[in-house]
Amino acid sequence: MEVINFLFLDSFYEFFNPKKRIFIGYLFSAIVIASLWLVFIRKKNFYESLKKIFDKTVLFSKSAKSDYLLFFFNQIIMSVLSPLLITQLAIATAIFYYLHTVSWLEPGVLKNTPIILITILFTIFHFVVEDFSKYIVHRFMHKWPLLWAVHKVHHSATCLTPMTVFRTHPLEGVIFSLRGAITQAISISLFVFFFGSNVDIASILGANIFIFVFNVAGSNLRHSHIDISYWKWLERIIISPAQHQVHHSVLTRHHDKNFGVALAIWDWMFGSLHHSEKIDKLTLGIDFNQKEETHKLYNLYIDPLKEIFSIILKKIIKFLSLLKSLKFKLIGADQ
Ligand SMILES: [Zn+2]
Ligand SMILES: [Zn+2]
Repeated sequence: MEVINFLFLDSFYEFFNPKKRIFIGYLFSAIVIASLWLVFIRKKNFYESLKKIFDKTVLFSKSAKSDYLLFFFNQIIMSVLSPLLITQLAIATAIFYYLHTVSWLEPGVLKNTPIILITILFTIFHFVVEDFSKYIVHRFMHKWPLLWAVHKVHHSATCLTPMTVFRTHPLEGVIFSLRGAITQAISISLFVFFFGSNVDIASILGANIFIFVFNVAGSNLRHSHIDISYWKWLERIIISPAQHQVHHSVLTRHHDKNFGVALAIWDWMFGSLHHSEKIDKLTLGIDFNQKEETHKLYNLYIDPLKEIFSIILKKIIKFLSLLKSLKFKLIGADQ
C-alpha cells in the first residue's frame, strides 16, 4: 500500500496543490482563457475552440506521451534525491548568522515598520528575486554546454502541453531546487534580520499572491499550442504564452530569447526579449533534423549524461595535451 501511495498518490498530489503550476484550478482557468481567446480573437465557434484546445494530435503525440512519463518518473527520482539536497533553512541560518558578524549592520533596525508594509514588501521582494533567479539560471542553461546538455531535454519537446513543464532531466530538477533554496533563504534571512520575526507573505491558498495571479492568468498556456500574445508594451513586462512558445522554436533567430518565467523585464533589460509570433508557423524542438528517438525515455535520461561525460573528457584531454606541450617547451628551454 505504501508503495502504491508513493508511486501514484504523491505524483497526482501536484494536481491538487495550489502551489504547483498544474493545480486543476489553474488548468481550468487556462482552458477558459484559451476558449475566450479562440472565440473572440481568432473568431472560432465554441465547438471549434474546444476541438483546438483538446487537439488529439498534440495531447497524444509522441512528444506529449514522453512528457507524461517524465512527470511520473521524475517525481519518484526527486522524492529520493530531495532529502539529500541542502535545505533553505540551513542556508537561511548561515546567511542570518553571517549578517550578525557584519559590524555596520544593525539587526532589527526596521522592526517598527507596520506589519502590513513588511508583508507587502516581503511578498514583492520574494516574487521578484525568485523570478530573476529563474531567468539567470535559465540563461546559463542555454549558454554553458554542460548545462545545455541537461536543459536540451526540455527543448526536445516538439509539441507543447502543460505537462511539458515537467519534461526536464532530474539534474535540472536538482539545479532548480538548489536555486529555490538559495533565493528563499536570501529573502527570508534578509527580512528577518532587518524587520524581526514579523515577516509574513501575502498568499492565496498557500501560494504567493503574485504566483497565484500568474497561474490563474493562464501560465499553463505557455506550454500549449494556443498562441496567446499580448500588446507589445505588455510583452516587455510580462511574458505572454506565445513568447515562451518562441523560446521553443528551432529557428536560429529565436535561439536564446525569452528566458523569463513570469516577468519579461529581465529579457528586455539584458537584450534577450523577442515579441510573440504565430505558433502555426513555428517548428518546435531542438532543430529541424530532430530524431524520433529523442522522445524515448532512455534517450531523455541517458543522452545528457553521455554528453556531459564527453564534454568533460574532451576538456581533460585538452588540458593534458596542454600540459604535455608545456613540458616539452620547458625541457627545450633547459637544453
Ligand atoms: Zn530554455
Ligand atoms: Zn518551456
